[in-house]
Amino acid sequence: MTWRRGIHLLTGLAAFILVLAMSGPIWAAVAGGVVALAPILLPERRSVAPAADIIPPAPPETDPLGMVRSAFANFDSPVFLLDDEGNVLYQNPAAAHAFGSVQNGQHVSARIRQPAALDMIREALATGKSGSVEIVTPMPAENVYMARIVRAVGNADFFVLIFRDISETRRIDRMRTDFVANASHELRTPLASLRGFIETLQGPARNDQRAHEKFLGIMAEQVTRMSRLVDDLMSLSRLELKAKVAPDVAVDLAPLIGSVCDALAPLADDLGVEIIQNVPDEPVLVAGDRDELTQVFENLIENACKYGQEGKRVEVTLSASKGHPVEVSVRDHGPGIPEEHVPRLTERFYRVNVESSLSKKGTGLGLAIVKHILTRHRARLVIRSEVGDGSTFTVRF
Ligand code: ADP
Repeated sequence: MTWRRGIHLLTGLAAFILVLAMSGPIWAAVAGGVVALAPILLPERRSVAPAADIIPPAPPETDPLGMVRSAFANFDSPVFLLDDEGNVLYQNPAAAHAFGSVQNGQHVSARIRQPAALDMIREALATGKSGSVEIVTPMPAENVYMARIVRAVGNADFFVLIFRDISETRRIDRMRTDFVANASHELRTPLASLRGFIETLQGPARNDQRAHEKFLGIMAEQVTRMSRLVDDLMSLSRLELKAKVAPDVAVDLAPLIGSVCDALAPLADDLGVEIIQNVPDEPVLVAGDRDELTQVFENLIENACKYGQEGKRVEVTLSASKGHPVEVSVRDHGPGIPEEHVPRLTERFYRVNVESSLSKKGTGLGLAIVKHILTRHRARLVIRSEVGDGSTFTVRF
């Protein structure tokens, strides 16, 4: 390496550290890497060599961006290399996929049309300063990108325009906000009712013994509803904390299902439902967490009894034949669930019929908890339902 390349490399690395200090790690790694590599990858300017250090003539470079291009070719994020007028020198396949192909030499605005992104590019081309902006692409699917432009200074100047897909992050942000709003709403309703009854008991019904008994009964129900909700929220949050750790204790599903059915027998009796068990005599082992699996089958069988009450029977079947996954299906003969609701049943607070769920003491979190537990167990919940013919919820391990 000549002294000039050494100096270029040092300046490149200094730029890398500067970019690292100013931006996120991914941008820094990519943009800084390119900046640092550019002096090595790009041709040197001709200079007069000192007499004692005769430099052989540099080989003619036909494609000065060749190495940079190949560095970005397999990169997941869309990348454009631009000249100082904003014309495209290179577009990687991810950029062609996300924004459509562009001919080299065409202006970047042929593909990037968001005014905020174009303003950022214009500003960077004029001042040489880096910039970033969040944009939304409407087609083909709505994606949210963080666009960033960085000037790569070497023997050839060019600009690196990178798009980082942050759609998933934004979707999770939105889910969190919705979740907090829903949870507050669910808690606010019983709280408002409690406040109303307290005011009535302190005011107009102060001396009414019958009203006292009636209202205190309703208040107790509301308090129970709030604690059910808080318990379910705590369950969800605990499950989220250990979502990535798969349970590894061998659990025998046959007795577990038997004891869940026994525990739910009084509820089923009250509802006039018979729980029929089809469980093999021999052990059926899966790797799991006994308490969590109990919670899964409690939720599914309880739902089948509550929502499928009019079918009068619920069949719980454990099947474990060789060469097939272990499955537990819970089948009811109730009214069934209209097709459009089925994919959303495991969303938090999603209910087909809010009134019916509330009257059956539902929190709207049961199936969300089931899904979380099954994800941790690397198992799936398959829901089949037909209006008028009941529903089958199958857990497949
Ligand atoms: P909830 O606490 O409301 O029961 P879940 O998450 O357990 O909440 O269930 C979500 C919704 O799915 C219920 O409100 C109900 O509308 C519907 N659902 C669940 N299981 C059944 C079933 N076996 N038959 C009909 N609808 C069901």
